[in-house]
Amino acid sequence: MNVPFLDLKASYFALQPEIDAAVARVLGSGWYIGGVEVEAFEREFAGYVDAEHCVGVANGLEALQLALLAVGVTPGSEVVVPSHTFIATWLAVTQLGATPVPVEVRADTYQLDESLLAAAITPRCKAIVPVHLYGTPAEMDAILELASAHRIPIVEDAAQAHGARYRGRRIGSHGKAVSWSFYPGKNLGAFGDAGAITTDDDGVAAHLRSLRNYGSAVRYVHDERGFNSRLDPIQAAILRVKLRHLDAWNERRRVIASRYLDELSDTGLILPAVPATVESSWHLFPVRHQRRDALREALGSKKIETLIHYPIPSHLQRAYSDLGLGPGSFPIAETIGSTVLSLPIGPAMTDEQAACVIDAVRTSLGAGG
Ligand SMILES: *Cc1c(COP(=O)(O)O)cnc(C)c1O
Repeated sequence: MNVPFLDLKASYFALQPEIDAAVARVLGSGWYIGGVEVEAFEREFAGYVDAEHCVGVANGLEALQLALLAVGVTPGSEVVVPSHTFIATWLAVTQLGATPVPVEVRADTYQLDESLLAAAITPRCKAIVPVHLYGTPAEMDAILELASAHRIPIVEDAAQAHGARYRGRRIGSHGKAVSWSFYPGKNLGAFGDAGAITTDDDGVAAHLRSLRNYGSAVRYVHDERGFNSRLDPIQAAILRVKLRHLDAWNERRRVIASRYLDELSDTGLILPAVPATVESSWHLFPVRHQRRDALREALGSKKIETLIHYPIPSHLQRAYSDLGLGPGSFPIAETIGSTVLSLPIGPAMTDEQAACVIDAVRTSLGAGG
Protein backbone atom coordinates (compact mmCIF):
# COMPACT_ATOMS: atom_id res chain seq x y z
CA MET A 1 0.00 0.00 0.00
CA ASN A 2 1.16 3.49 -0.94
CA VAL A 3 1.08 6.03 1.93
CA PRO A 4 1.87 9.56 0.74
CA PHE A 5 2.98 12.03 3.42
CA LEU A 6 -0.03 14.24 2.68
CA ASP A 7 -2.56 14.09 -0.15
CA LEU A 8 -2.95 17.76 -1.12
CA LYS A 9 -5.33 17.17 -4.03
CA ALA A 10 -7.83 15.29 -1.85
CA SER A 11 -9.42 18.41 -0.36
CA TYR A 12 -9.95 19.87 -3.83
CA PHE A 13 -11.63 16.78 -5.25
CA ALA A 14 -13.75 16.37 -2.09
CA LEU A 15 -15.08 19.94 -2.42
CA GLN A 16 -14.66 20.57 -6.15
CA PRO A 17 -18.11 22.02 -6.99
CA GLU A 18 -18.00 24.48 -4.08
CA ILE A 19 -14.40 25.50 -4.72
CA ASP A 20 -14.91 25.93 -8.47
CA ALA A 21 -17.97 28.08 -7.75
CA ALA A 22 -16.03 30.21 -5.26
CA VAL A 23 -13.19 30.82 -7.72
CA ALA A 24 -15.64 31.62 -10.54
CA ARG A 25 -17.47 34.06 -8.27
CA VAL A 26 -14.25 36.05 -7.71
CA LEU A 27 -13.19 35.94 -11.37
CA GLY A 28 -16.61 37.16 -12.46
CA SER A 29 -16.78 39.92 -9.85
CA GLY A 30 -14.18 42.18 -11.45
CA TRP A 31 -12.74 42.74 -7.94
CA TYR A 32 -9.27 41.19 -7.67
CA ILE A 33 -7.63 42.88 -4.67
CA GLY A 34 -9.32 42.99 -1.26
CA GLY A 35 -13.09 43.31 -1.32
CA VAL A 36 -15.97 41.26 0.01
CA GLU A 37 -14.35 37.79 -0.11
CA VAL A 38 -11.32 38.94 1.90
CA GLU A 39 -13.55 40.78 4.39
CA ALA A 40 -15.88 37.78 4.74
CA PHE A 41 -12.99 35.38 5.32
CA GLU A 42 -11.45 37.74 7.88
CA ARG A 43 -14.77 37.87 9.73
CA GLU A 44 -15.28 34.11 9.57
CA PHE A 45 -11.75 33.20 10.64
CA ALA A 46 -11.80 35.72 13.52
CA GLY A 47 -15.08 34.11 14.61
CA TYR A 48 -13.59 30.63 14.33
CA VAL A 49 -10.57 31.41 16.54
CA ASP A 50 -12.63 33.70 18.79
CA ALA A 51 -10.58 36.87 18.16
CA GLU A 52 -11.88 40.42 17.64
CA HIS A 53 -9.97 41.00 14.42
CA CYS A 54 -8.39 39.11 11.55
CA VAL A 55 -6.15 40.87 9.02
CA GLY A 56 -5.42 38.87 5.87
CA VAL A 57 -1.91 39.12 4.41
CA ALA A 58 0.14 37.46 1.67
CA ASN A 59 1.77 34.59 3.61
CA GLY A 60 2.77 33.33 7.05
CA LEU A 61 6.26 34.84 7.11
CA GLU A 62 4.90 38.32 6.41
CA ALA A 63 2.08 37.78 8.93
CA LEU A 64 4.71 37.27 11.63
CA GLN A 65 6.92 40.09 10.38
CA LEU A 66 4.07 42.63 10.28
CA ALA A 67 2.75 41.45 13.67
CA LEU A 68 6.19 41.99 15.26
CA LEU A 69 6.39 45.43 13.68
CA ALA A 70 2.88 46.31 14.89
CA VAL A 71 3.69 45.43 18.53
CA GLY A 72 6.77 47.65 18.50
CA VAL A 73 9.79 45.61 17.38
CA THR A 74 12.38 47.97 15.86
CA PRO A 75 15.91 47.58 14.46
CA GLY A 76 18.17 46.64 17.38
CA SER A 77 15.36 45.02 19.41
CA GLU A 78 15.75 41.51 20.77
CA VAL A 79 12.99 38.96 20.20
CA VAL A 80 12.80 35.63 22.03
CA VAL A 81 12.29 32.67 19.67
CA PRO A 82 12.41 28.89 20.16
CA SER A 83 15.66 27.05 19.36
CA HIS A 84 13.64 24.49 17.38
CA THR A 85 11.17 25.84 14.81
CA PHE A 86 10.76 26.43 11.08
CA ILE A 87 13.26 29.09 10.00
CA ALA A 88 10.48 31.58 9.12
CA THR A 89 10.11 32.36 12.83
CA TRP A 90 13.69 33.64 12.91
CA LEU A 91 13.51 35.31 9.48
CA ALA A 92 10.56 37.47 10.54
CA VAL A 93 12.73 38.86 13.35
CA THR A 94 15.88 39.46 11.33
CA GLN A 95 14.01 41.04 8.42
CA LEU A 96 13.07 43.82 10.83
CA GLY A 97 16.71 44.35 11.79
CA ALA A 98 16.07 42.79 15.20
CA THR A 99 18.08 39.99 16.84
CA PRO A 100 16.62 36.55 17.58
CA VAL A 101 17.36 35.38 21.14
CA PRO A 102 16.86 31.62 21.07
CA VAL A 103 15.50 29.74 24.07
CA GLU A 104 15.65 25.94 24.14
CA VAL A 105 12.50 23.91 23.63
CA ARG A 106 11.44 21.05 25.89
CA ALA A 107 12.60 17.65 24.69
CA ASP A 108 9.19 16.09 25.39
CA THR A 109 6.69 18.58 23.91
CA TYR A 110 9.07 20.40 21.51
CA GLN A 111 7.62 23.72 22.74
CA LEU A 112 9.42 26.75 24.21
CA ASP A 113 10.74 25.80 27.66
CA GLU A 114 8.97 28.32 29.87
CA SER A 115 11.41 27.66 32.73
CA LEU A 116 14.29 29.09 30.65
CA LEU A 117 12.44 32.17 29.46
CA ALA A 118 13.19 34.60 32.32
CA ALA A 119 16.96 34.25 31.82
CA ALA A 120 16.66 35.29 28.15
CA ILE A 121 14.88 38.59 28.78
CA THR A 122 16.96 41.76 28.66
CA PRO A 123 15.87 45.43 28.59
CA ARG A 124 16.14 45.29 24.77
CA CYS A 125 13.60 42.44 24.49
CA LYS A 126 10.55 43.76 22.62
CA ALA A 127 8.60 40.55 21.93
CA ILE A 128 8.36 36.85 22.79
CA VAL A 129 7.35 34.42 20.02
CA PRO A 130 6.01 31.07 21.19
CA VAL A 131 5.54 28.73 18.21
CA HIS A 132 2.82 26.12 18.58
CA LEU A 133 5.01 23.70 16.67
CA TYR A 134 3.47 20.59 15.12
CA GLY A 135 0.07 21.93 16.29
CA THR A 136 0.70 21.52 20.03
CA PRO A 137 0.22 24.78 21.95
CA ALA A 138 3.09 26.06 24.08
CA GLU A 139 2.57 26.39 27.85
CA MET A 140 0.88 29.78 27.52
CA ASP A 141 -0.05 30.52 31.16
CA ALA A 142 3.58 30.63 32.31
CA ILE A 143 4.68 32.53 29.20
CA LEU A 144 1.84 35.08 29.51
CA GLU A 145 2.58 35.63 33.19
CA LEU A 146 6.27 36.28 32.59
CA ALA A 147 5.59 38.52 29.58
CA SER A 148 3.08 40.58 31.49
CA ALA A 149 5.47 40.98 34.46
CA HIS A 150 8.06 42.39 32.04
CA ARG A 151 5.48 44.26 29.91
CA ILE A 152 6.65 42.47 26.79
CA PRO A 153 4.08 41.61 24.10
CA ILE A 154 3.62 38.03 22.94
CA VAL A 155 3.28 37.31 19.23
CA GLU A 156 2.30 33.67 18.66
CA ASP A 157 3.40 31.81 15.55
CA ALA A 158 0.30 29.68 14.96
CA ALA A 159 1.17 28.58 11.42
CA GLN A 160 0.68 24.93 12.45
CA ALA A 161 -2.08 25.35 15.04
CA HIS A 162 -5.39 26.07 13.25
CA GLY A 163 -8.09 24.82 15.62
CA ALA A 164 -5.71 23.81 18.44
CA ARG A 165 -6.78 24.72 21.97
CA TYR A 166 -5.02 25.82 25.15
CA ARG A 167 -7.08 25.25 28.33
CA GLY A 168 -10.19 24.80 26.21
CA ARG A 169 -9.80 28.08 24.29
CA ARG A 170 -8.79 28.10 20.65
CA ILE A 171 -5.37 29.50 19.78
CA GLY A 172 -5.97 32.94 18.23
CA SER A 173 -6.01 35.59 20.95
CA HIS A 174 -3.94 34.51 23.95
CA GLY A 175 -1.05 36.79 22.97
CA LYS A 176 -1.18 40.39 21.69
CA ALA A 177 -1.14 39.14 18.08
CA VAL A 178 -1.22 35.69 16.48
CA SER A 179 0.22 34.98 13.05
CA TRP A 180 -1.18 32.36 10.68
CA SER A 181 -0.05 30.72 7.46
CA PHE A 182 -2.45 29.17 4.95
CA TYR A 183 0.35 27.57 2.92
CA PRO A 184 -1.24 24.61 1.06
CA GLY A 185 0.11 21.93 3.43
CA LYS A 186 -1.18 23.55 6.64
CA ASN A 187 -4.30 22.28 8.44
CA LEU A 188 -6.21 25.13 6.77
CA GLY A 189 -4.42 25.56 3.45
CA ALA A 190 -5.10 27.74 0.41
CA PHE A 191 -4.23 26.70 -3.15
CA GLY A 192 -1.32 29.14 -3.15
CA ASP A 193 0.24 31.48 -0.59
CA ALA A 194 -1.88 33.17 2.07
CA GLY A 195 -1.60 34.32 5.69
CA ALA A 196 -3.30 36.36 8.41
CA ILE A 197 -2.92 37.90 11.85
CA THR A 198 -5.59 37.68 14.55
CA THR A 199 -5.75 40.02 17.55
CA ASP A 200 -8.13 41.44 20.13
CA ASP A 201 -6.33 44.79 20.05
CA ASP A 202 -8.10 47.46 17.93
CA GLY A 203 -4.93 49.56 17.56
CA VAL A 204 -2.78 46.61 16.44
CA ALA A 205 -5.44 45.57 13.91
CA ALA A 206 -5.70 49.08 12.43
CA HIS A 207 -1.91 49.34 12.25
CA LEU A 208 -1.69 45.97 10.45
CA ARG A 209 -4.34 47.04 7.90
CA SER A 210 -2.19 50.03 7.09
CA LEU A 211 1.12 48.12 7.07
CA ARG A 212 -0.15 45.54 4.55
CA ASN A 213 -1.33 48.33 2.26
CA TYR A 214 1.72 50.57 1.66
CA GLY A 215 1.40 52.15 5.11
CA SER A 216 -1.82 53.81 4.07
CA ALA A 217 -5.26 53.99 5.69
CA VAL A 218 -6.51 56.72 3.33
CA ARG A 219 -5.74 56.30 -0.37
CA TYR A 220 -2.50 58.06 -1.43
CA VAL A 221 -1.86 59.25 2.13
CA HIS A 222 1.08 57.36 3.65
CA ASP A 223 1.75 57.61 7.38
CA GLU A 224 4.65 55.16 7.34
CA ARG A 225 6.71 53.01 5.00
CA GLY A 226 4.47 50.00 4.60
CA PHE A 227 4.41 46.84 2.54
CA ASN A 228 2.36 45.21 -0.17
CA SER A 229 1.23 42.07 1.65
CA ARG A 230 -2.39 41.34 0.79
CA LEU A 231 -4.54 38.23 0.99
CA ASP A 232 -5.61 37.29 -2.56
CA PRO A 233 -9.44 37.25 -2.82
CA ILE A 234 -9.34 34.01 -4.84
CA GLN A 235 -7.48 32.34 -1.98
CA ALA A 236 -9.85 33.99 0.53
CA ALA A 237 -12.88 32.54 -1.30
CA ILE A 238 -11.25 29.07 -1.28
CA LEU A 239 -10.35 29.38 2.41
CA ARG A 240 -13.98 30.25 3.24
CA VAL A 241 -15.08 26.93 1.74
CA LYS A 242 -12.32 24.96 3.45
CA LEU A 243 -12.79 26.61 6.87
CA ARG A 244 -16.20 24.91 7.16
CA HIS A 245 -14.43 21.52 7.07
CA LEU A 246 -11.48 22.30 9.33
CA ASP A 247 -12.95 20.80 12.51
CA ALA A 248 -13.83 17.54 10.77
CA TRP A 249 -10.36 17.37 9.19
CA ASN A 250 -8.69 18.04 12.56
CA GLU A 251 -10.82 15.33 14.15
CA ARG A 252 -9.56 12.86 11.56
CA ARG A 253 -5.97 13.88 12.37
CA ARG A 254 -6.70 13.39 16.07
CA VAL A 255 -7.99 9.86 15.50
CA ILE A 256 -4.84 8.92 13.58
CA ALA A 257 -2.59 10.56 16.20
CA SER A 258 -4.26 8.67 19.03
CA ARG A 259 -3.79 5.38 17.17
CA TYR A 260 -0.09 6.17 16.72
CA LEU A 261 0.21 7.10 20.42
CA ASP A 262 -1.51 3.86 21.46
CA GLU A 263 -0.10 1.38 19.03
CA LEU A 264 3.50 2.61 18.90
CA SER A 265 3.95 3.08 22.66
CA ASP A 266 6.02 -0.10 23.15
CA THR A 267 8.37 0.27 20.17
CA GLY A 268 11.15 2.34 21.71
CA LEU A 269 10.16 5.35 19.60
CA ILE A 270 9.99 8.65 21.49
CA LEU A 271 6.40 9.82 20.98
CA PRO A 272 5.30 13.46 21.30
CA ALA A 273 4.10 14.45 24.79
CA VAL A 274 0.76 16.24 24.88
CA PRO A 275 0.17 18.15 28.14
CA ALA A 276 -3.28 17.91 29.75
CA THR A 277 -3.72 21.67 29.15
CA VAL A 278 -3.76 21.41 25.33
CA GLU A 279 -5.57 19.94 22.36
CA SER A 280 -3.16 19.63 19.45
CA SER A 281 -4.24 20.27 15.87
CA TRP A 282 -1.84 17.45 14.90
CA HIS A 283 -0.39 19.34 11.94
CA LEU A 284 2.46 16.82 12.10
CA PHE A 285 3.15 13.66 14.07
CA PRO A 286 6.82 13.82 15.08
CA VAL A 287 8.55 10.78 16.55
CA ARG A 288 12.19 10.45 17.54
CA HIS A 289 14.67 7.59 17.29
CA GLN A 290 18.46 7.25 17.47
CA ARG A 291 18.45 5.32 14.17
CA ARG A 292 16.06 7.75 12.49
CA ASP A 293 17.64 7.53 9.04
CA ALA A 294 17.46 3.72 8.96
CA LEU A 295 13.81 3.84 10.03
CA ARG A 296 13.05 6.40 7.34
CA GLU A 297 14.69 4.21 4.72
CA ALA A 298 12.84 1.09 5.86
CA LEU A 299 9.50 2.93 5.65
CA GLY A 300 10.43 4.41 2.28
CA SER A 301 11.14 0.95 0.87
CA LYS A 302 7.52 0.07 1.78
CA LYS A 303 6.27 3.20 -0.03
CA ILE A 304 5.52 5.03 3.20
CA GLU A 305 6.57 8.65 2.79
CA THR A 306 8.04 10.49 5.80
CA LEU A 307 9.65 13.92 6.19
CA ILE A 308 12.01 15.57 8.68
CA HIS A 309 10.79 18.74 10.44
CA TYR A 310 13.40 20.16 10.80
CA PRO A 311 16.85 18.60 10.27
CA ILE A 312 19.10 21.65 10.81
CA PRO A 313 18.31 24.07 13.65
CA SER A 314 18.22 27.75 12.64
CA HIS A 315 21.33 28.62 14.70
CA LEU A 316 23.39 26.15 12.63
CA GLN A 317 22.13 27.40 9.26
CA ARG A 318 24.63 29.37 7.15
CA ALA A 319 22.02 32.16 7.05
CA TYR A 320 22.70 32.73 10.77
CA SER A 321 26.43 32.02 10.94
CA ASP A 322 27.00 35.68 11.88
CA LEU A 323 25.23 35.11 15.22
CA GLY A 324 28.23 32.99 16.25
CA LEU A 325 26.06 30.22 17.74
CA GLY A 326 28.07 27.11 16.88
CA PRO A 327 27.36 23.40 17.42
CA GLY A 328 26.58 22.68 21.06
CA SER A 329 24.87 26.06 21.65
CA PHE A 330 21.41 24.50 21.75
CA PRO A 331 21.88 20.77 22.38
CA ILE A 332 18.18 19.92 22.64
CA ALA A 333 17.37 21.53 19.28
CA GLU A 334 20.39 19.76 17.78
CA THR A 335 19.34 16.37 19.17
CA ILE A 336 15.80 16.85 17.88
CA GLY A 337 17.12 17.76 14.45
CA SER A 338 19.18 14.58 14.21
CA THR A 339 16.53 12.19 15.57
CA VAL A 340 13.10 13.54 14.59
CA LEU A 341 10.87 12.02 11.90
CA SER A 342 7.35 13.01 10.84
CA LEU A 343 5.02 10.08 10.18
CA PRO A 344 2.24 10.57 7.61
CA ILE A 345 -0.90 12.20 9.02
CA GLY A 346 -3.72 14.07 7.35
CA PRO A 347 -7.47 14.35 6.86
CA ALA A 348 -7.51 12.09 3.79
CA MET A 349 -5.56 9.26 5.41
CA THR A 350 -7.52 6.01 5.74
CA ASP A 351 -7.59 3.56 8.65
CA GLU A 352 -5.86 1.03 6.40
CA GLN A 353 -3.04 3.47 5.67
CA ALA A 354 -2.61 4.22 9.39
CA ALA A 355 -2.50 0.49 10.13
CA CYS A 356 0.06 0.04 7.38
CA VAL A 357 2.32 2.73 8.91
CA ILE A 358 1.97 1.24 12.39
CA ASP A 359 2.75 -2.23 11.09
CA ALA A 360 5.81 -1.08 9.14
CA VAL A 361 7.21 0.92 12.08
CA ARG A 362 6.72 -2.02 14.47
CA THR A 363 8.38 -4.45 12.05
CA SER A 364 11.36 -2.27 11.31
CA LEU A 365 11.96 -1.61 15.03
CA GLY A 366 11.63 -5.33 15.80
CA ALA A 367 8.56 -4.73 17.97
CA GLY A 368 6.50 -7.47 16.34
CA GLY A 369 3.03 -7.28 14.77
C1 LIG B 1 4.65 27.51 7.44
C2 LIG B 1 5.25 28.22 8.61
C3 LIG B 1 5.58 29.57 8.54
C4 LIG B 1 5.61 30.37 7.28
O1 LIG B 1 4.45 30.41 6.55
P1 LIG B 1 4.50 30.74 4.98
O2 LIG B 1 3.07 30.96 4.65
O3 LIG B 1 5.10 29.58 4.29
O4 LIG B 1 5.31 31.98 4.81
C5 LIG B 1 6.01 30.19 9.70
N1 LIG B 1 6.15 29.51 10.85
C6 LIG B 1 5.87 28.20 10.95
C7 LIG B 1 6.03 27.49 12.26
C8 LIG B 1 5.44 27.50 9.82
O5 LIG B 1 5.17 26.19 9.91
